[in-house]
Amino acid sequence: MLEKTLDAMKDDLTAAIQQVVRIPSVGGEPAEGAPYGEGPRKCLDWTLAFAEKMGFRTKNVDNAAGWAEMGEGDEMVAVLGHLDVVPEGKGWTVDPWGGELKDDMIWGRGVLDNKGPVMIGLFAAKAIFDSGIRLKRRVRIIFGTNEEQGSKCMKRYVELGEELPAAGFTPDAEYPIIHAEKGIITYTVSTPFAPSGDMKITSLEGGVAANVVMAEVRAEIEDPRAECRQRVLDAASSWQGPKGSSLSADEDGNRVVLVMKGHPAHGSTPEKGVNALSCLADFMAGLKFKGEQGEFFSTFSRMVGFETDGKSLGVAMSDEVSGPLTACVGVVKAENGRVSFTINMRYPVTAGGEDVTGPIEEIFRKNGLEVVEKRVADPLYMPPESRLIQCLQKVYKEETGEDATLLAIGGGTYAKTMPNVVAFGPVFPGQDYTIHEEDERWSVEDIMKNARIMAKALVELAEVAG
Ligand SMILES: [Zn+2]
Repeated sequence: MLEKTLDAMKDDLTAAIQQVVRIPSVGGEPAEGAPYGEGPRKCLDWTLAFAEKMGFRTKNVDNAAGWAEMGEGDEMVAVLGHLDVVPEGKGWTVDPWGGELKDDMIWGRGVLDNKGPVMIGLFAAKAIFDSGIRLKRRVRIIFGTNEEQGSKCMKRYVELGEELPAAGFTPDAEYPIIHAEKGIITYTVSTPFAPSGDMKITSLEGGVAANVVMAEVRAEIEDPRAECRQRVLDAASSWQGPKGSSLSADEDGNRVVLVMKGHPAHGSTPEKGVNALSCLADFMAGLKFKGEQGEFFSTFSRMVGFETDGKSLGVAMSDEVSGPLTACVGVVKAENGRVSFTINMRYPVTAGGEDVTGPIEEIFRKNGLEVVEKRVADPLYMPPESRLIQCLQKVYKEETGEDATLLAIGGGTYAKTMPNVVAFGPVFPGQDYTIHEEDERWSVEDIMKNARIMAKALVELAEVAG
């Protein structure tokens, strides 16, 4: 019955996803009543109105998030998703905001990440109640509008005392089930960087974000002596860095402009990238700068160098569930006689934050680095024997025929924002992954497969009333 009800909703569900994809909802400047920009707010309004028309009780949570609910019961089970999207970027073969249905796929920014799954949640819940299934707990679809820029929406939901789910999942990563998410600590540290002597660095800047391996850094070296500039140019042309790095050096008046290129990677997998600052520090060490500027590069090389495991920072650690700690240097900038850089670490789920902050802050102190900013997100770990995991595993196996193995990741999902939630779906193992890429698309077949899994998971978690 439930499956039949869902099947009959296929066209409506497809149309709803197409419609919601057509509302550009990239995060932007805060405005009156739109804390994360106009786009996310518009999409929130549309979704709440749509859910209400479907028969849900709804609430706008301070223009940051919203929820839609059906059913009765003291407790509630939830699907968490987000309506904001990353910018469309370049290289699309279709209109990223067109919500086109082509080759049995829906195309557009956000179709997978994460508007499609939110719509599926609504239709899955409605199908349960339309099929006449009575549940012990209420079913709530919670949608935020700031996931891509820090999940402040869900923090707001929790802060405002909105109800927390007895159990839930967020279809915003991949199948089968992510039961462990590493803890994340991000530091911005700073140290003096005043020039001394004739050869000085007048500019140093690189990286795009703390959670992306720095792929490029630019430095300007000023020296009135032509022979010294030539020495820098010669050193640059003979420098040999790790595979994937490259260095260009150009003379411009009495300056030499250096551009060091590495390779980007996500902050949770820094070992897949080549850090441009690590390369630059290696190159600069050979130039023998005097004073604070020379000091900075040698300190950086000693503390970080080419490492991505935090060994020389005193925080190398690992556990069986989630693997080793990773460390990613993302952004560097010199200004006002100081230089600062970010370091983003993902630590194992069985460790405590203080296992990282204790030793590393000691090393920062010893090396004259001042902590300017520190952000900590605790790890998430849901034991395999918990009811939530058991329920999701059962449904996944029934629907796909595959075992629902448990995954551990270094990233952070919405699951971290409230208790009793894990990431579950929507991308199947080995599948094309177009999230955050050009031509983001999702087949109607997989959409329906997700709808069946979500509906059955909700029934399982909310339990059929006796
Ligand atoms: Zn997402």
